[in-house]
Amino acid sequence: MGAEPSMAEWSNWSGKQTASPQAVVRPASEEAVAARVRSAAQAGSRVRCLGAGHSHSPLAATEGVLLNLEALAGVASVDREQRVATIRAGTRIYQLGSALRGHGLGLHNQGDIDRQALAGATATGTHGTGRRLPCLSASVVGARVALADGSLVDCDPEREPGLLALARLGLGAVGAITRLDLSVREAYRLRERMWLEPLDAVLDRIDALAAAHRHFEFFWYPGRSKAICKAGDETDAPPEYPLADEGHRVGWSYEVLANHRPERHTEMEYALPAGEGPACFREIRALVENRFPEVAWPLEYRSVAADDVWLSMAQGRPTVTISVHQDVALDEAPVFRACEEIFARHAGRPHWGKLHYRSGKELAALYPRWDDWWRERDRYDPDGVFLNDHVASLRS
Ligand SMILES: Cc1cc2nc3c(=O)[nH]c(=O)nc-3n(C[C@H](O)[C@H](O)[C@H](O)COP(=O)(O)OP(=O)(O)OC[C@H]3O[C@@H](n4cnc5c(N)ncnc54)[C@H](O)[C@@H]3O)c2cc1C
Repeated sequence: MGAEPSMAEWSNWSGKQTASPQAVVRPASEEAVAARVRSAAQAGSRVRCLGAGHSHSPLAATEGVLLNLEALAGVASVDREQRVATIRAGTRIYQLGSALRGHGLGLHNQGDIDRQALAGATATGTHGTGRRLPCLSASVVGARVALADGSLVDCDPEREPGLLALARLGLGAVGAITRLDLSVREAYRLRERMWLEPLDAVLDRIDALAAAHRHFEFFWYPGRSKAICKAGDETDAPPEYPLADEGHRVGWSYEVLANHRPERHTEMEYALPAGEGPACFREIRALVENRFPEVAWPLEYRSVAADDVWLSMAQGRPTVTISVHQDVALDEAPVFRACEEIFARHAGRPHWGKLHYRSGKELAALYPRWDDWWRERDRYDPDGVFLNDHVASLRS
Protein backbone atom coordinates (compact mmCIF):
# COMPACT_ATOMS: atom_id res chain seq x y z
CA MET A 1 0.00 0.00 0.00
CA GLY A 2 1.56 3.30 -1.01
CA ALA A 3 1.07 6.40 1.13
CA GLU A 4 2.22 9.81 0.04
CA PRO A 5 2.47 12.75 2.38
CA SER A 6 0.35 15.52 0.97
CA MET A 7 3.06 17.61 -0.67
CA ALA A 8 0.79 19.13 -3.27
CA GLU A 9 -2.77 20.24 -3.27
CA TRP A 10 -5.22 17.78 -4.76
CA SER A 11 -7.31 19.30 -7.52
CA ASN A 12 -10.16 18.04 -9.61
CA TRP A 13 -10.31 17.86 -13.43
CA SER A 14 -11.34 21.49 -13.89
CA GLY A 15 -8.73 22.71 -11.38
CA LYS A 16 -11.45 24.68 -9.59
CA GLN A 17 -11.67 22.38 -6.55
CA THR A 18 -8.57 21.91 -4.43
CA ALA A 19 -7.77 20.29 -1.09
CA SER A 20 -4.81 19.23 1.03
CA PRO A 21 -5.39 15.63 2.09
CA GLN A 22 -3.28 14.45 5.01
CA ALA A 23 -2.39 11.42 2.87
CA VAL A 24 -3.18 10.03 -0.56
CA VAL A 25 -3.21 6.24 -0.48
CA ARG A 26 -3.40 3.71 -3.32
CA PRO A 27 -4.46 0.37 -1.83
CA ALA A 28 -3.71 -2.65 -4.00
CA SER A 29 -6.46 -4.97 -2.72
CA GLU A 30 -9.91 -4.92 -1.14
CA GLU A 31 -8.37 -6.05 2.16
CA ALA A 32 -5.89 -3.18 2.00
CA VAL A 33 -8.75 -0.73 1.45
CA ALA A 34 -10.56 -2.07 4.51
CA ALA A 35 -7.40 -1.96 6.63
CA ARG A 36 -6.69 1.65 5.62
CA VAL A 37 -10.24 2.71 6.39
CA ARG A 38 -10.04 1.05 9.81
CA SER A 39 -6.73 2.66 10.72
CA ALA A 40 -7.88 6.09 9.56
CA ALA A 41 -11.13 5.82 11.53
CA GLN A 42 -9.27 4.66 14.65
CA ALA A 43 -6.97 7.66 14.33
CA GLY A 44 -9.99 9.95 14.10
CA SER A 45 -9.37 10.87 10.44
CA ARG A 46 -12.00 11.25 7.80
CA VAL A 47 -11.78 9.24 4.57
CA ARG A 48 -12.86 10.04 1.03
CA CYS A 49 -12.51 7.89 -2.08
CA LEU A 50 -11.26 9.29 -5.34
CA GLY A 51 -12.41 8.21 -8.77
CA ALA A 52 -11.05 10.13 -11.74
CA GLY A 53 -11.58 13.53 -10.08
CA HIS A 54 -14.05 14.61 -12.77
CA SER A 55 -16.69 16.00 -10.43
CA HIS A 56 -17.07 19.76 -10.60
CA SER A 57 -18.52 19.87 -7.08
CA PRO A 58 -16.15 19.38 -4.10
CA LEU A 59 -17.26 15.79 -3.59
CA ALA A 60 -13.88 14.11 -3.42
CA ALA A 61 -12.17 16.94 -1.52
CA THR A 62 -10.87 16.08 1.93
CA GLU A 63 -8.35 17.19 4.51
CA GLY A 64 -8.32 13.58 5.74
CA VAL A 65 -7.20 10.43 3.94
CA LEU A 66 -7.87 10.25 0.21
CA LEU A 67 -8.16 6.68 -1.07
CA ASN A 68 -7.34 6.36 -4.74
CA LEU A 69 -8.77 3.02 -5.86
CA GLU A 70 -7.35 2.99 -9.38
CA ALA A 71 -5.47 -0.27 -8.68
CA LEU A 72 -8.78 -2.06 -8.18
CA ALA A 73 -9.63 -2.33 -11.87
CA GLY A 74 -11.11 -4.82 -14.29
CA VAL A 75 -14.03 -7.20 -14.66
CA ALA A 76 -13.94 -9.65 -11.73
CA SER A 77 -16.60 -12.06 -13.04
CA VAL A 78 -19.60 -12.28 -15.31
CA ASP A 79 -22.92 -14.07 -14.96
CA ARG A 80 -23.94 -14.30 -18.59
CA GLU A 81 -27.29 -15.89 -17.84
CA GLN A 82 -28.38 -13.17 -15.40
CA ARG A 83 -26.57 -10.50 -17.43
CA VAL A 84 -24.71 -9.22 -14.40
CA ALA A 85 -21.02 -8.23 -14.42
CA THR A 86 -19.01 -7.78 -11.23
CA ILE A 87 -16.60 -4.93 -11.78
CA ARG A 88 -13.84 -3.58 -9.56
CA ALA A 89 -14.67 -0.10 -8.34
CA GLY A 90 -11.68 1.76 -9.76
CA THR A 91 -12.24 0.53 -13.32
CA ARG A 92 -12.40 3.45 -15.74
CA ILE A 93 -15.45 3.38 -17.99
CA TYR A 94 -13.14 3.31 -21.02
CA GLN A 95 -11.57 0.08 -19.71
CA LEU A 96 -14.98 -1.56 -19.58
CA GLY A 97 -16.19 -1.49 -23.18
CA SER A 98 -13.90 -4.02 -24.80
CA ALA A 99 -13.59 -6.07 -21.58
CA LEU A 100 -17.36 -6.56 -21.46
CA ARG A 101 -17.59 -7.17 -25.20
CA GLY A 102 -15.11 -10.03 -24.70
CA HIS A 103 -18.03 -11.65 -22.84
CA GLY A 104 -20.56 -10.57 -25.49
CA LEU A 105 -21.91 -7.86 -23.15
CA GLY A 106 -22.18 -4.10 -22.96
CA LEU A 107 -23.42 -1.27 -20.72
CA HIS A 108 -27.03 -0.16 -21.29
CA ASN A 109 -25.80 3.40 -21.65
CA GLN A 110 -22.97 5.69 -20.63
CA GLY A 111 -22.18 9.38 -20.36
CA ASP A 112 -20.66 11.84 -22.74
CA ILE A 113 -17.10 10.88 -21.80
CA ASP A 114 -15.63 7.60 -20.54
CA ARG A 115 -12.80 8.83 -18.28
CA GLN A 116 -14.65 8.36 -14.96
CA ALA A 117 -14.08 5.49 -12.55
CA LEU A 118 -17.12 3.24 -12.33
CA ALA A 119 -17.67 3.86 -8.60
CA GLY A 120 -17.11 7.58 -9.11
CA ALA A 121 -19.69 7.69 -11.89
CA THR A 122 -22.34 5.75 -9.97
CA ALA A 123 -21.71 7.79 -6.79
CA THR A 124 -23.20 10.84 -8.53
CA GLY A 125 -25.82 9.28 -10.82
CA THR A 126 -23.85 9.84 -14.01
CA HIS A 127 -26.10 9.48 -17.04
CA GLY A 128 -26.07 9.55 -20.80
CA THR A 129 -29.04 10.38 -22.97
CA GLY A 130 -31.98 8.20 -23.95
CA ARG A 131 -35.60 8.48 -22.92
CA ARG A 132 -35.78 4.76 -22.14
CA LEU A 133 -32.35 4.57 -20.50
CA PRO A 134 -31.77 5.33 -16.82
CA CYS A 135 -28.56 6.59 -15.20
CA LEU A 136 -25.66 4.25 -14.40
CA SER A 137 -26.59 4.01 -10.71
CA ALA A 138 -29.85 2.29 -11.68
CA SER A 139 -27.80 -0.59 -13.12
CA VAL A 140 -26.17 -1.34 -9.76
CA VAL A 141 -27.66 -4.55 -8.32
CA GLY A 142 -25.00 -5.37 -5.75
CA ALA A 143 -21.80 -4.05 -4.20
CA ARG A 144 -18.95 -4.76 -1.79
CA VAL A 145 -18.25 -1.93 0.61
CA ALA A 146 -15.47 -1.31 3.13
CA LEU A 147 -17.32 0.27 6.04
CA ALA A 148 -15.93 2.66 8.63
CA ASP A 149 -15.29 -0.20 11.10
CA GLY A 150 -13.01 -1.89 8.56
CA SER A 151 -15.44 -4.67 7.64
CA LEU A 152 -15.98 -5.66 4.00
CA VAL A 153 -19.72 -6.13 3.48
CA ASP A 154 -21.55 -7.51 0.44
CA CYS A 155 -24.98 -6.10 -0.32
CA ASP A 156 -27.75 -6.91 -2.79
CA PRO A 157 -31.56 -6.76 -2.66
CA GLU A 158 -31.63 -9.65 -0.13
CA ARG A 159 -28.53 -8.97 1.93
CA GLU A 160 -28.23 -5.48 3.45
CA PRO A 161 -30.75 -3.81 1.11
CA GLY A 162 -30.27 -0.50 2.96
CA LEU A 163 -26.58 -0.57 2.15
CA LEU A 164 -27.35 -1.39 -1.48
CA ALA A 165 -29.63 1.65 -1.68
CA LEU A 166 -26.71 3.79 -0.56
CA ALA A 167 -24.11 2.00 -2.67
CA ARG A 168 -26.10 2.69 -5.84
CA LEU A 169 -25.73 6.43 -5.34
CA GLY A 170 -23.84 7.30 -2.19
CA LEU A 171 -21.95 10.56 -2.85
CA GLY A 172 -18.88 8.76 -1.49
CA ALA A 173 -20.39 9.16 1.97
CA VAL A 174 -21.15 5.61 2.95
CA GLY A 175 -17.97 3.54 2.67
CA ALA A 176 -15.27 2.65 0.20
CA ILE A 177 -16.89 0.63 -2.57
CA THR A 178 -14.48 -2.00 -3.84
CA ARG A 179 -16.68 -3.71 -6.45
CA LEU A 180 -20.07 -3.25 -8.06
CA ASP A 181 -22.47 -5.77 -9.63
CA LEU A 182 -23.89 -4.15 -12.74
CA SER A 183 -26.86 -5.13 -14.82
CA VAL A 184 -25.61 -5.30 -18.41
CA ARG A 185 -27.03 -6.39 -21.77
CA GLU A 186 -25.78 -8.13 -24.90
CA ALA A 187 -23.13 -6.19 -26.81
CA TYR A 188 -24.58 -3.88 -29.48
CA ARG A 189 -23.58 -1.47 -32.17
CA LEU A 190 -24.83 2.06 -32.78
CA ARG A 191 -25.13 4.36 -35.74
CA GLU A 192 -24.81 8.03 -34.83
CA ARG A 193 -25.99 10.97 -36.86
CA MET A 194 -25.71 14.73 -36.35
CA TRP A 195 -27.58 17.59 -38.00
CA LEU A 196 -28.40 21.28 -37.59
CA GLU A 197 -31.97 22.41 -37.02
CA PRO A 198 -33.57 25.68 -35.83
CA LEU A 199 -33.64 25.61 -32.03
CA ASP A 200 -37.33 26.47 -31.79
CA ALA A 201 -38.26 23.67 -34.17
CA VAL A 202 -36.24 21.20 -32.07
CA LEU A 203 -37.93 22.37 -28.86
CA ASP A 204 -41.35 22.16 -30.53
CA ARG A 205 -40.81 18.52 -31.51
CA ILE A 206 -38.49 17.39 -28.72
CA ASP A 207 -40.89 14.66 -27.55
CA ALA A 208 -41.02 13.09 -30.99
CA LEU A 209 -37.25 13.28 -31.39
CA ALA A 210 -36.58 11.70 -28.00
CA ALA A 211 -39.14 8.97 -28.72
CA ALA A 212 -37.81 8.23 -32.19
CA HIS A 213 -34.21 7.49 -31.19
CA ARG A 214 -32.48 5.29 -28.63
CA HIS A 215 -30.25 8.28 -27.88
CA PHE A 216 -31.13 11.87 -28.66
CA GLU A 217 -29.61 15.11 -27.43
CA PHE A 218 -28.94 18.58 -28.67
CA PHE A 219 -26.36 21.29 -28.06
CA TRP A 220 -26.99 24.97 -28.58
CA TYR A 221 -24.44 27.77 -28.66
CA PRO A 222 -25.75 31.10 -27.30
CA GLY A 223 -26.41 33.57 -30.07
CA ARG A 224 -27.04 30.97 -32.75
CA SER A 225 -30.42 30.18 -34.23
CA LYS A 226 -29.75 26.50 -34.86
CA ALA A 227 -29.16 23.60 -32.49
CA ILE A 228 -26.75 20.75 -33.13
CA CYS A 229 -28.83 17.59 -32.91
CA LYS A 230 -27.31 14.18 -32.28
CA ALA A 231 -29.12 10.83 -32.49
CA GLY A 232 -27.95 7.27 -32.01
CA ASP A 233 -29.73 4.03 -32.85
CA GLU A 234 -28.90 0.35 -32.75
CA THR A 235 -27.71 -1.15 -35.99
CA ASP A 236 -26.63 -4.51 -37.37
CA ALA A 237 -24.21 -2.77 -39.69
CA PRO A 238 -20.54 -3.59 -39.13
CA PRO A 239 -18.33 -0.95 -37.51
CA GLU A 240 -16.82 1.53 -39.92
CA TYR A 241 -13.16 1.93 -38.97
CA PRO A 242 -11.42 4.23 -38.57
CA LEU A 243 -14.32 5.80 -36.71
CA ALA A 244 -15.37 9.07 -38.29
CA ASP A 245 -15.70 12.27 -36.31
CA GLU A 246 -18.38 12.67 -33.68
CA GLY A 247 -21.79 12.51 -35.31
CA HIS A 248 -21.05 10.14 -38.17
CA ARG A 249 -19.96 6.97 -36.45
CA VAL A 250 -20.93 3.32 -36.72
CA GLY A 251 -19.33 1.12 -34.11
CA TRP A 252 -19.73 -0.73 -30.82
CA SER A 253 -21.80 1.18 -28.28
CA TYR A 254 -18.81 2.22 -26.17
CA GLU A 255 -16.96 3.48 -29.24
CA VAL A 256 -19.85 5.64 -30.38
CA LEU A 257 -21.13 6.95 -27.04
CA ALA A 258 -17.79 8.21 -25.73
CA ASN A 259 -16.56 11.64 -26.77
CA HIS A 260 -13.40 13.59 -26.31
CA ARG A 261 -13.94 16.76 -24.22
CA PRO A 262 -10.48 18.13 -23.46
CA GLU A 263 -11.40 21.83 -23.12
CA ARG A 264 -11.41 22.68 -19.42
CA HIS A 265 -14.71 24.04 -18.24
CA THR A 266 -16.92 24.02 -15.20
CA GLU A 267 -20.53 22.99 -15.32
CA MET A 268 -23.97 23.14 -13.76
CA GLU A 269 -26.57 20.57 -14.78
CA TYR A 270 -30.14 20.26 -13.64
CA ALA A 271 -32.60 17.38 -14.00
CA LEU A 272 -36.22 18.43 -14.58
CA PRO A 273 -39.52 16.64 -14.97
CA ALA A 274 -39.52 15.86 -18.70
CA GLY A 275 -42.52 18.08 -19.44
CA GLU A 276 -40.74 21.14 -18.02
CA GLY A 277 -37.78 20.83 -20.37
CA PRO A 278 -38.71 23.05 -23.35
CA ALA A 279 -40.11 25.94 -21.28
CA CYS A 280 -37.13 25.85 -18.93
CA PHE A 281 -34.68 25.75 -21.82
CA ARG A 282 -36.33 28.80 -23.41
CA GLU A 283 -36.00 30.74 -20.15
CA ILE A 284 -32.33 29.77 -19.79
CA ARG A 285 -31.72 30.78 -23.41
CA ALA A 286 -33.25 34.22 -22.84
CA LEU A 287 -31.29 34.67 -19.62
CA VAL A 288 -27.94 33.77 -21.16
CA GLU A 289 -28.48 35.87 -24.27
CA ASN A 290 -29.76 38.93 -22.42
CA ARG A 291 -27.64 38.96 -19.26
CA PHE A 292 -24.58 36.79 -19.86
CA PRO A 293 -23.46 37.27 -23.46
CA GLU A 294 -19.92 36.25 -22.44
CA VAL A 295 -21.02 32.59 -22.17
CA ALA A 296 -19.41 31.00 -25.22
CA TRP A 297 -20.02 27.37 -24.28
CA PRO A 298 -22.96 25.28 -25.45
CA LEU A 299 -26.02 24.34 -23.44
CA GLU A 300 -26.79 20.62 -23.60
CA TYR A 301 -30.22 18.94 -23.44
CA ARG A 302 -30.65 15.21 -22.75
CA SER A 303 -33.28 12.69 -21.64
CA VAL A 304 -33.04 10.14 -18.84
CA ALA A 305 -35.55 7.42 -17.86
CA ALA A 306 -37.14 7.42 -14.41
CA ASP A 307 -35.60 5.08 -11.82
CA ASP A 308 -35.95 4.05 -8.17
CA VAL A 309 -32.50 5.05 -6.87
CA TRP A 310 -33.05 7.10 -3.69
CA LEU A 311 -30.92 10.10 -4.60
CA SER A 312 -31.02 9.76 -8.37
CA MET A 313 -31.83 12.97 -10.20
CA ALA A 314 -34.37 10.92 -12.20
CA GLN A 315 -35.86 9.19 -9.15
CA GLY A 316 -39.56 8.65 -9.77
CA ARG A 317 -39.89 10.88 -12.80
CA PRO A 318 -39.09 10.81 -16.54
CA THR A 319 -36.40 13.42 -16.79
CA VAL A 320 -34.62 15.82 -19.06
CA THR A 321 -31.35 17.45 -18.17
CA ILE A 322 -30.04 20.86 -19.14
CA SER A 323 -26.42 21.78 -18.60
CA VAL A 324 -24.67 25.10 -18.68
CA HIS A 325 -20.89 25.35 -19.05
CA GLN A 326 -18.46 28.13 -18.30
CA ASP A 327 -14.79 28.66 -19.03
CA VAL A 328 -12.53 27.82 -16.07
CA ALA A 329 -10.84 31.21 -16.40
CA LEU A 330 -14.13 33.03 -15.69
CA ASP A 331 -16.24 33.32 -12.54
CA GLU A 332 -19.13 30.95 -13.17
CA ALA A 333 -21.12 31.92 -10.07
CA PRO A 334 -23.20 34.83 -11.46
CA VAL A 335 -24.51 32.92 -14.47
CA PHE A 336 -24.89 29.62 -12.61
CA ARG A 337 -26.79 31.24 -9.74
CA ALA A 338 -29.12 33.01 -12.15
CA CYS A 339 -29.71 29.75 -14.06
CA GLU A 340 -30.31 27.92 -10.80
CA GLU A 341 -33.20 30.26 -9.94
CA ILE A 342 -34.87 29.20 -13.18
CA PHE A 343 -34.09 25.51 -12.71
CA ALA A 344 -35.51 25.67 -9.17
CA ARG A 345 -38.79 27.15 -10.44
CA HIS A 346 -39.09 24.08 -12.69
CA ALA A 347 -38.58 21.63 -9.79
CA GLY A 348 -35.04 20.90 -10.95
CA ARG A 349 -32.68 18.62 -9.09
CA PRO A 350 -28.96 19.43 -9.38
CA HIS A 351 -26.44 16.90 -10.71
CA TRP A 352 -24.42 15.81 -7.67
CA GLY A 353 -21.14 15.91 -9.57
CA LYS A 354 -21.66 19.43 -10.94
CA LEU A 355 -21.86 22.84 -9.30
CA HIS A 356 -24.95 23.90 -7.41
CA TYR A 357 -25.78 26.13 -4.47
CA ARG A 358 -28.77 24.33 -2.94
CA SER A 359 -29.28 23.78 0.80
CA GLY A 360 -30.14 20.47 2.43
CA LYS A 361 -33.61 21.82 3.21
CA GLU A 362 -34.25 22.53 -0.46
CA LEU A 363 -32.85 19.16 -1.52
CA ALA A 364 -34.97 17.33 1.05
CA ALA A 365 -38.08 18.76 -0.60
CA LEU A 366 -36.95 17.36 -3.96
CA TYR A 367 -36.17 13.79 -2.86
CA PRO A 368 -38.90 11.66 -1.21
CA ARG A 369 -36.23 9.28 0.14
CA TRP A 370 -33.91 12.02 1.49
CA ASP A 371 -34.45 11.19 5.17
CA ASP A 372 -34.15 7.45 4.48
CA TRP A 373 -30.82 8.02 2.75
CA TRP A 374 -29.43 9.98 5.69
CA ARG A 375 -30.85 7.55 8.28
CA GLU A 376 -29.18 4.56 6.57
CA ARG A 377 -25.97 6.53 6.01
CA ASP A 378 -25.78 7.37 9.69
CA ARG A 379 -26.46 3.72 10.59
CA TYR A 380 -23.52 2.45 8.53
CA ASP A 381 -21.19 5.34 9.39
CA PRO A 382 -22.33 6.78 12.75
CA ASP A 383 -19.13 8.77 13.31
CA GLY A 384 -19.20 10.44 9.91
CA VAL A 385 -15.87 8.99 8.79
CA PHE A 386 -16.96 9.15 5.14
CA LEU A 387 -18.35 12.68 5.23
CA ASN A 388 -16.53 15.74 3.99
CA ASP A 389 -17.53 19.34 4.60
CA HIS A 390 -19.47 19.55 1.34
CA VAL A 391 -21.64 16.47 1.92
CA ALA A 392 -22.10 17.32 5.60
CA SER A 393 -23.33 20.78 4.57
CA LEU A 394 -26.10 19.18 2.48
CA ARG A 395 -27.72 17.61 5.52
CA SER A 396 -29.61 20.75 6.51
C1 LIG B 1 -15.58 16.45 -19.16
C2 LIG B 1 -16.67 15.89 -18.27
C3 LIG B 1 -17.74 15.24 -18.86
C4 LIG B 1 -18.77 14.72 -18.06
N1 LIG B 1 -19.83 14.11 -18.66
C5 LIG B 1 -20.86 13.66 -17.91
C6 LIG B 1 -21.99 13.05 -18.52
O1 LIG B 1 -22.06 12.87 -19.73
N2 LIG B 1 -23.01 12.66 -17.71
C7 LIG B 1 -22.99 12.85 -16.37
O2 LIG B 1 -23.96 12.50 -15.70
N3 LIG B 1 -21.92 13.40 -15.76
C8 LIG B 1 -20.86 13.80 -16.51
N4 LIG B 1 -19.77 14.35 -15.89
C9 LIG B 1 -19.73 14.34 -14.42
C10 LIG B 1 -19.04 13.05 -13.93
O3 LIG B 1 -19.52 11.91 -14.60
C11 LIG B 1 -19.33 12.83 -12.45
O4 LIG B 1 -18.96 13.94 -11.69
C12 LIG B 1 -18.63 11.58 -11.90
O5 LIG B 1 -19.02 11.38 -10.59
C13 LIG B 1 -17.12 11.67 -11.99
O6 LIG B 1 -16.58 10.41 -11.78
P1 LIG B 1 -15.11 10.28 -11.18
O7 LIG B 1 -14.67 8.86 -11.33
O8 LIG B 1 -14.24 11.32 -11.72
O9 LIG B 1 -15.41 10.51 -9.63
P2 LIG B 1 -14.83 11.62 -8.63
O10 LIG B 1 -15.22 12.96 -9.12
O11 LIG B 1 -13.40 11.34 -8.37
O12 LIG B 1 -15.69 11.27 -7.34
C14 LIG B 1 -17.08 11.43 -7.36
C15 LIG B 1 -17.66 10.84 -6.07
O13 LIG B 1 -17.50 9.42 -6.11
C16 LIG B 1 -16.95 8.98 -4.88
N5 LIG B 1 -16.20 7.74 -5.13
C17 LIG B 1 -15.30 7.51 -6.09
N6 LIG B 1 -14.86 6.24 -5.99
C18 LIG B 1 -15.49 5.67 -4.94
C19 LIG B 1 -15.44 4.40 -4.32
N7 LIG B 1 -14.66 3.43 -4.77
N8 LIG B 1 -16.22 4.19 -3.24
C20 LIG B 1 -17.03 5.15 -2.77
N9 LIG B 1 -17.13 6.37 -3.32
C21 LIG B 1 -16.37 6.63 -4.39
C22 LIG B 1 -16.07 10.15 -4.44
O14 LIG B 1 -15.79 10.10 -3.06
C23 LIG B 1 -16.95 11.31 -4.81
O15 LIG B 1 -17.90 11.53 -3.81
C24 LIG B 1 -18.71 14.85 -16.64
C25 LIG B 1 -17.62 15.49 -16.05
C26 LIG B 1 -16.60 16.01 -16.86
C27 LIG B 1 -15.44 16.71 -16.22
